[in-house]
Amino acid sequence: MNLVIFGAPGAGKGTQSALLVSELGYRQISTGDLLRKAVREGSSLGLEAKSLMDRGQLVPDEVVLGLVRESLGTLNGVPFILDGFPRNLSQLSQLQSLLSSLGLKLSRAVFLSVDSGLLVERLSGRRVCSKCGSVYHLIAKPPRTPGECDLCGAPLSHRPDDKEGVIRDRLGVYNRDTAPLKDEFRKLGILAEVDAGRPETVVFAAIRSHLGK
Ligand code: ADP
Ligand code: AMP
Repeated sequence: MNLVIFGAPGAGKGTQSALLVSELGYRQISTGDLLRKAVREGSSLGLEAKSLMDRGQLVPDEVVLGLVRESLGTLNGVPFILDGFPRNLSQLSQLQSLLSSLGLKLSRAVFLSVDSGLLVERLSGRRVCSKCGSVYHLIAKPPRTPGECDLCGAPLSHRPDDKEGVIRDRLGVYNRDTAPLKDEFRKLGILAEVDAGRPETVVFAAIRSHLGK
């Protein structure tokens, strides 16, 4: 059962995807993670993406589509979650063509719904492991030792796009470009809406029940 997980920045897509990976054996395809990896590696794609990401703007569709195409080609039948993609209507239609050319299908689009005030709190308190990518929150999910990843001990960082001015711009981009996808998924008959303002485990239980697991 292949999934899209979508919602505003900070809704908990990465957090819930990590649970779907560890509990249900999914493969996560996060375009944000793939782009940050390209930035760290200093590839030409990464250099092109970085200034847009730091300003909270979307990188060009063909760049992210290329990353998704590559990841889908390595699945060998493992079910996948698309996290952070598609991000606009054009990406959705390109995804549909790509999936049909590969003989793949989306079963659900899980929409994580969270009030905007809570999103700002979540994003400004988010800290991410610079090595393994584990996600923490200063208040809701603090690491055992401040500033250090529980899993690998590497330093935690504050994403440049999780600073207040950029958060506002990202939420604007989300409302303009990404929120309209909800109606499209509804029309496709695959929308599953989850109240994601609740604790992590409660949200995960709600997702599981939408998946019948
Ligand atoms: P997204 O991938 O949608 O941008 P994340 O999964 O990275 O969101 O979560 C954003 C921040 O909110 C992180 O600091 C994470 O620890 C925290 N968070 C995620 N889900 C919850 C939740 N259900 N309750 C409280 N905090 C959460
Ligand atoms: P995320 O990790 O999903 O919050 O994404 C971080 C940033 O990466 C976004 O603000 C965009 O600049 C870029 N990005 C991630 N996914 C996409 C996408 N599907 N289309 C365009 N840009 C993206």
